Amino acid sequence: MINPKLIMLDLDGTLYIGNEAIPGAVTAVEQLRERRFLLRFLTNTTTKSHVELLQQLRSLGFTLAAEELISAPIGACLELQSLQRQMDRPLRIWPVVAGAIKSDFNAFEWDEVNPDFVVLGDIGERWDLALINQIFNIIHNGAELIALHKNRFWQTSDGLKADIGFFVAGLEFICNKNARIMGKPNRDFFQRVLDSVGVNASEAIMVGDDIDSDVGGAQLMGMQGCLVKTGKYRKIYFEQSGIKPNMVLSSIADVLSIFRP
Ligand SMILES: [Mg+2]
Repeated sequence: MINPKLIMLDLDGTLYIGNEAIPGAVTAVEQLRERRFLLRFLTNTTTKSHVELLQQLRSLGFTLAAEELISAPIGACLELQSLQRQMDRPLRIWPVVAGAIKSDFNAFEWDEVNPDFVVLGDIGERWDLALINQIFNIIHNGAELIALHKNRFWQTSDGLKADIGFFVAGLEFICNKNARIMGKPNRDFFQRVLDSVGVNASEAIMVGDDIDSDVGGAQLMGMQGCLVKTGKYRKIYFEQSGIKPNMVLSSIADVLSIFRP
């Protein structure tokens, strides 16, 4: 391939699993830096703040600047900043998100009564009908909805659980309005990352362990998608998938092999 300007790296399953870096990942990132590629670290995590994620990566040995890490909440902030510039006025938001990530939205004015945007994330057991009706009425009265993701369900130690996609889809239906969805594989999210660096999709590559979110999402944007066979990679799922990665690596440790010297 023609060497890209920007490399987007997935976190969980690509750079680390749990509390351990994938063998060779720290060195691989350093090698990419020596080759002067622009790097952005992307994650859909919505339960850890930007500061916590940054600390986690650094404690595993990765070196990165704060602006290089773009989580789904930070993607939402970039989206809001972009809308703020278009509208030429400060936006009022109501973040309905986990306590841990509320600080990610400190740059905006908060308003639970008459916000311009409701930002929806994971709030665990806090859902109830009163909250649903409060959000419904606010959106019905003109506010827009930004969802940090729209996942259907997730795996917990107690088995599968309904995820916020249930509430996002429900609110979209009863308000007759589409939410802006952040996080991979959504276009708005990838576009905000590209814009923040000033690079075109054709000059960027995404490297990750999720064939749908990382590889498929990138390819839909006109970026290249590189699959790593770590983390959630499963051979059977890969073989049955209609998505064909531009490159496949056994691990991030080999990432330099896909670029021209
Ligand atoms: Mg991953």
